[in-house]
Amino acid sequence: MDLFEYQGKQYFAKYNIPVSAGGVAHTVDEAVAEAEKAQYPVVVKAQVQVGGRGKAGGIKLATNADEVRLHAGNILGMDIKGHVVKRVWIEHASDIAEEYYASFTLDRAAKQHLLMLSAQGGVEIEDVAAKDPTAIVKLHINPIIGLSLAAARQASVDAKIPEKALDGVADMLVKLYECFTKGDCDLAEINPLILKPTGEVHALDAKVSLDSNAAFRHPEWEEYAATEELDAREQLAREKNLQYIGLDGTVGIIANGAGLAMSTLDVVNQVGGSAANFLDIGGGANAELMTAALEVINSDAKVKSIFINIFGGITRGEEVAKGIVEAVKRVTLRAPIVIRLDGTNAEEGRKILAEAGIPDSQLTSRPTMLEAARAAVALAK
Ligand code: GDP
Ligand code: MN
Repeated sequence: MDLFEYQGKQYFAKYNIPVSAGGVAHTVDEAVAEAEKAQYPVVVKAQVQVGGRGKAGGIKLATNADEVRLHAGNILGMDIKGHVVKRVWIEHASDIAEEYYASFTLDRAAKQHLLMLSAQGGVEIEDVAAKDPTAIVKLHINPIIGLSLAAARQASVDAKIPEKALDGVADMLVKLYECFTKGDCDLAEINPLILKPTGEVHALDAKVSLDSNAAFRHPEWEEYAATEELDAREQLAREKNLQYIGLDGTVGIIANGAGLAMSTLDVVNQVGGSAANFLDIGGGANAELMTAALEVINSDAKVKSIFINIFGGITRGEEVAKGIVEAVKRVTLRAPIVIRLDGTNAEEGRKILAEAGIPDSQLTSRPTMLEAARAAVALAK
């Protein structure tokens, strides 16, 4: 679950990471009231869960109430990369001497935490990585041992953080790591991490993603869930209780079991297509579930074909087939379905599909996953 910057900063503050005080505003008047509290000069910051707000005009300095009115008026309602700004965060403006970058993530392949640190902050880290990869220091951290202040300081030296900021940055890294681990984050990123002219190190931005699997030990996360912004497809999937992740491709995917769903994505890619989503309908592929899954996929305008990949184990083929026949009656589909049905009672299932009288332009069957993927990708082109 991604947090807004202001929530990320509140989260940081629990771990004593220095952030600027401020307030959230939903209207221009609220923005002015918050600015008076924060004291001028202030920054008016669009709260959307996407990077590059600054470049898009979503971050503005204001030295008086008129400027706050102007900027908050422009920013509220602004569309930043498909995200509409519903609230702004107003904080007292900081003086910046230098901008750095710091983040912690999980490196699954290495089974360790990963610190990324750079003395070139304030720009997108992908740009730094493309232009000068040596400017980013990567340090793997054994989660059992953790991150010592000495290791954090050494990483800062390696990243060519200037002498005057070393202690402050190292201290910040240890606190951010504590937030990342104890706070159950998937990502904790500060960009820019600034050095003020006064010598203090301060978090000017906050990007935090929480590990939803740990929600059971964080009842306080409920307030974040309340403001979470999902795209329309994800919202619908959540209402229908489906395991769904929206992607950018053109082949809609329905599979039973997360492993099979992931393999389906791989095979679609392998034969030159691109998946529009990940969707695992789990064990019981009945009519209700299949209808819900098709509705979610159907709500995605990019979908050009739908690949249903079912391997029946406990789920029986004829149940799945009945579910699909029923679902196709209920939902007016925007794209043709290609199905691969295998496993328990697959024969019976295919027979039900064949005898249902659904035209080939709407539904065709293929005997293997690879052939079905090829057919679905061809239809999507
Ligand atoms: P992002 O563009 O979405 O990453 O938003 P940031 O919060 O990182 O802000 C982008 C840039 O705006 C920063 O790199 C700073 O250069 C500038 N900025 C943000 N807050 C302040 C501030 O308090 N004072 C000053 N002088 N600049 C700021
Ligand atoms: Mn930033």
